[in-house]
Amino acid sequence: MSELAGRVALVTGGTRGIGLATARALAEAGATVVLTGRDAARAEAVAKEFGGHGLGLDVGDFDAVGAVVRQVTADHGGLDVLVANAGIMENGLLGMLRADAVRRTLEVNVAGTVAAVQAAGRAMARKRQAADGTPRRGGAIVVLASVVGTHGAAGQSVYAASKAALVALARSAAKELGPRGIRVNAVAPGVIRTDLTASLPAEVLDGQAAAAALGRLGEPAEVAEVIRFLVGDGARYVTGQVLGVDGGLVP
Ligand code: NAD
Repeated sequence: MSELAGRVALVTGGTRGIGLATARALAEAGATVVLTGRDAARAEAVAKEFGGHGLGLDVGDFDAVGAVVRQVTADHGGLDVLVANAGIMENGLLGMLRADAVRRTLEVNVAGTVAAVQAAGRAMARKRQAADGTPRRGGAIVVLASVVGTHGAAGQSVYAASKAALVALARSAAKELGPRGIRVNAVAPGVIRTDLTASLPAEVLDGQAAAAALGRLGEPAEVAEVIRFLVGDGARYVTGQVLGVDGGLVP
């Protein structure tokens, strides 16, 4: 499959979970993939396994995010796809939340994603030459929201608020960047089996599986497939959307 041949894709937080599955799926579709992780050596090693490139990046550092997007753009002659995936989940009932955890969640999940979308928008808006020599402008961005950003969840107020912010970011950026040929969408996964959710109590996971119409939790590859669709040409008239990948969770 070579739908994304000649395109350059950046996936933040791509060393495991949904980000890694997405990086692999985009590479399988023919894209040149750069993934980032907090540990540069690990990011490089993980990316090498499927012929991609890895870079170190703490998405909580706003300026560093822009610098990495510019570096990828310079190294690979442009940027066509951004998957702003890096995120953290701080759980805790409202009364127990600490200021540093609140700030960190907003810094990584919201500010880090804003930084990535801002820098990618600038890079994609520029006219450039594709690998086959044809002029190209525009691109596709996907941000990782969550079902809790629209439904809410007890014990996840700040995480949920950060993900709701990303829905608003995607919809707003889609309006701003659409005239430049840049599409921006969000995916809102339900509960997907990754390190992020592994720490949740078994009864919570069982409850979420039972609450899904499909009666089970999701797999990272099932989110990656949807992201691959959203950044590909099959979704060329789709922007400003939030696509649930949640097995049919009822709000
Ligand atoms: P994960 O914890 O397995 O992976 C998260 C990735 O983000 C890791 O590679 C991690 O290193 C990276 N990351 C975290 N903080 C970072 C930072 N400061 N700088 C750079 N990288 C950082 O999680 P996942 O389940 O694969 O989640 C990926 C995204 O999907 C997250 O944004 C998460 O909120 C979202 N999401 C996950 C689920 C789920 O059920 N797993 C549901 C909805 C949304």
